[in-house]
Amino acid sequence: MRSWIAALFALVCAAAPALCGEPQATAKDQQLAWLQKGTIFNAGLRGTHTIALTFDDGPNAYTGAVLDALRQYNIKATFFIVGFMAHAHPAMLERIAAEGHLLSNHSATHPELTSRFDDDPQTLLYQLRDVNNQIAPLMKQTDKLFFRAPYGYWRAAHAAILNNDPVLRNYTGPIYWDEGGEIAMRDGYVMSAADWDCWRHHWTPHVCAKGYLREIRRDNGGVVLMHCIHSQSGALVAEVVPPLVEEGYNFVRLDQVPEYQQYETPPSAPAVADAAPHRRIALAFATAPK
Ligand SMILES: [Zn+2]
Repeated sequence: MRSWIAALFALVCAAAPALCGEPQATAKDQQLAWLQKGTIFNAGLRGTHTIALTFDDGPNAYTGAVLDALRQYNIKATFFIVGFMAHAHPAMLERIAAEGHLLSNHSATHPELTSRFDDDPQTLLYQLRDVNNQIAPLMKQTDKLFFRAPYGYWRAAHAAILNNDPVLRNYTGPIYWDEGGEIAMRDGYVMSAADWDCWRHHWTPHVCAKGYLREIRRDNGGVVLMHCIHSQSGALVAEVVPPLVEEGYNFVRLDQVPEYQQYETPPSAPAVADAAPHRRIALAFATAPK
């Protein structure tokens, strides 16, 4: 009789672990949490009149003008930091954090994360650790960790390697964008824009801003891709932001986007059972190669 009950109990527990008080780190969690096998495209902000401004590839000397423009409207944004840029501009990195923006990870050297990294896991790990070591000490305990892959290159094998690391698997990502990906024209009108391509075409910030504004209004919100490293970057923000503020758009950091919460590494995961994972990140990899 006893073994019959035990067998039944085992069956029920296997089917519904929550009923038996088991931790709920189910297969579903493993699929949803940690760095993803594929890029996260949906931020859920389109149609919500909410914007998450994201600035990639910095910091450098031009980032200050972007910060000035954001501060004028008390807007908090997300900065995807490149490691070698931050090494060269540590004061600017500190300023980004001090002004309430979210520091995020965009790799150490901005490589195309192709299959060559699958055979060289240490190099892949270094790409995230180098940035993490620099941003983690500047972040608040409640800040969340986000990663964006350079050029959008990503592979499932990368996720597997990074999710084996007790620290780096606390990142949510890779994060994509909704607006700012490319220039599109129709009947001579700029319908959408990408800042780096605007500057390549010698467009003014005013013209480039038209593309951003039209795309954002069409979508009624979204994650916006910009860069903070060009001489025109500050002027572009100064052109794009005021009309959107006037139109009542909400501005959020990526850690305020509800859609991303499903991808956060579960608290039940052993490596993140205690608090302040990013502080441990800084300690754990203080000797990463330069
Ligand atoms: Zn980039």
